[in-house]
Amino acid sequence: MRFELPPGALEVLRRLNAAGYQAYAVGGCVRDLARGVPPHDYDICTSALPAQTERCFAGERVVETGIKHGTVTVLMAGEPYEITTFRTDGDYLDGRHPQSVAFTDSLTEDLRRRDFTINAMAYHPDIGLRDPFDGQADIARRVIRCVGDANARFTEDALRILRALRFAAELGFDIAPDTARAMRELSGRLALISRERIAAELLRALNGINTVPVLQAFDTVLLAALPDYPAAALPEALHALAILPRGDIVLRLAALVHDVGKPSCFFTDDEGIGHFYGHPEAGEPLARQIARHLRLPNAVTSELCTLVLWHDRPLPLTPKAMRRRLAKLGEPLCRRLYQLVEADMRTHSQLNMAENLDTLARSRALMEDVLQEMDVFSPRDLAVDGCDLMELGFAPGPRLGEVKGELFSRVVDGELPNSRPELLARAAQLL
Ligand code: ATP
Ligand code: MG
Repeated sequence: MRFELPPGALEVLRRLNAAGYQAYAVGGCVRDLARGVPPHDYDICTSALPAQTERCFAGERVVETGIKHGTVTVLMAGEPYEITTFRTDGDYLDGRHPQSVAFTDSLTEDLRRRDFTINAMAYHPDIGLRDPFDGQADIARRVIRCVGDANARFTEDALRILRALRFAAELGFDIAPDTARAMRELSGRLALISRERIAAELLRALNGINTVPVLQAFDTVLLAALPDYPAAALPEALHALAILPRGDIVLRLAALVHDVGKPSCFFTDDEGIGHFYGHPEAGEPLARQIARHLRLPNAVTSELCTLVLWHDRPLPLTPKAMRRRLAKLGEPLCRRLYQLVEADMRTHSQLNMAENLDTLARSRALMEDVLQEMDVFSPRDLAVDGCDLMELGFAPGPRLGEVKGELFSRVVDGELPNSRPELLARAAQLL
């Protein structure tokens, strides 16, 4: 088995070897090389202690990124390399951190503490692949399998449960039966894990090539990671996820949460027909709570909540209504909203689906037309600014903002052109 390593990685291995230490490329990069996929980074493991590693790279840029876990980062040939001393983890008392770490000179011991067999391989150009847990066979079989006893490994660190789900979704691999059983059995332990770490794995799980089947099979794990998420909203969310493209994480999240308000809004009318009136308004605060739980950035949370709140509103079919929507949401969010609405329409079997899709297509075409000529999306885009208004005689203060808002609305509604003389004339009337 021969793999190509980049010059920087080869140089890191060479320097450590020259000083008498063992060193290998390890983990995700070896997994990717064995799958024939280009790695996005190369981690190195070594028998050198951190201080010894640092001495091997005197004169290079070295950062002590995780010194107590034995990691230093070295800049070599313009790329950062994380170099971690072979280690074994002590007991995990809190379900997420080892009580202690001990350095070792055994590569196998270092590989034994790693999560899955496919991630527990190391490679050196002169030695070849070191694979004591048969990761290569699991790559060939396309299987995620814990190194050692799955129950013990998930009890040590419950984040691994979500990592298994993430790798299954990203790689399209199956999960070995004993690993899958332990994931379901121990998913409650995700409550012990920091929400930032959960969010990082979950966002990647939502964006995989095999996300929907994996989340379907491991719904208990997803629900354990998101305690505020109503289980009844999941089937439709998975439909929407199946339809929507990958890559836009706000849209993936929106697919997951767009209907979280439905379970609490459901009622049956006198004719026995079910309705969900008000579900976007009921869902928005719940979506916010879920986003907060995951500690998502404010900008993501706010876009997500807007998509939830707007996903069931009538589609604009006049230029004026379209300009108002574009001015309110901005072009990127409007485009995502169409994607979400379309997925939502295709998700529900409805008698008038064809008609609804036709309306959507017309509204979308209208958006493109309107965007061709629309150049004012916020008061800042007006042909007059605050200075112009003060020269006219407006005093600085809230009234100035109101007047700008008034001019902005007139321009958005097409009642005034965005030209200086006409805006100034209109402002003069308001004085
Ligand atoms: P990616 O391509 O997503 O970076 P990766 O396998 O490199 O995948 P990382 O999170 O970068 O994933 O972790 C690097 C390596 O560290 C893993 O391949 C695995 O060997 C080990 N590892 C990471 N997290 C854990 C964990 N929670 N428990 C055990 N081993 C872990
Ligand atoms: Mg990695």
